[in-house]
Amino acid sequence: MDKERIKKLAQNPQFITGIYNYCDRWCERCPFTSRCLNFALGDEQFGDPESRDITNKLFWKKLAETFRVTLDLLKEAAEREGIDLNSLGTEELADQESSGEEAAENHECCRAAEIYGEMVDEWFDSASDLFGQGEDDLNLKVLLDIPNVNPIWEGAGLEEAVQVVRWYQHQIYVKLMRAIHGRLEEKSPIHDEFYSDSDGSAKVALIAIDRSIAAWGEIQNHYPLRDADILDVLVHLDRLRRRVEKVFPGARAFIRPGFDKVHLHS
Ligand code: SF4
Repeated sequence: MDKERIKKLAQNPQFITGIYNYCDRWCERCPFTSRCLNFALGDEQFGDPESRDITNKLFWKKLAETFRVTLDLLKEAAEREGIDLNSLGTEELADQESSGEEAAENHECCRAAEIYGEMVDEWFDSASDLFGQGEDDLNLKVLLDIPNVNPIWEGAGLEEAVQVVRWYQHQIYVKLMRAIHGRLEEKSPIHDEFYSDSDGSAKVALIAIDRSIAAWGEIQNHYPLRDADILDVLVHLDRLRRRVEKVFPGARAFIRPGFDKVHLHS
């Protein structure tokens, strides 16, 4: 693409300034590709942008509903199993003495996010028999054994849930590293909680955690026999979610251009 074409595209008011600064880079699932300059400059194309954006909005809306149901079920399961969800499990994750670059890596949030990434790998390794040859080739026969289920629709739900878990598996850690690093670098004791970059990164991590919780809820529906180990993953993620909210109390209120507010150009 030549310079003139880039300049012309950048002046197009349909694009939301800076929308790509606080997104999850999952363009294929993004509800704003038609408003994103970064997407327009890239080579990726996934069909008609506007109809895809609508489909993606519906996808995330459905997942947000699953998130709420999963949290309710998690509370019930924790009560039944005697798990204290109010505990953040900080004993084993207490920050280690460190400074500079290492401080972010050793922060309890980043360490918990790293452990989550490992838990995901371990779970999928242990569940490989359920997934046939690979995650792209989900074993629908398993689903056919479940009564009153449309295997095609449910298979798509499971496949999408796995995609969500895998997309955010390491991104949660990366975003939290950026958030913690930024917070440690913020020298001024008085900073704007609502507009700091660290809050923005923490918000992206929180959304990734919420969506991962919902996706695990969906996976749990399909594999009730793996309830116990999925519960471990969910408890870990839920504690991470609340830990991040505690460290970044302004994160949820951070306004991401486009995603949280209609841009002036719209
Ligand atoms: S805002 Fe959407 S389209 Fe643009 S880079 Fe981020 S995920 Fe991709």
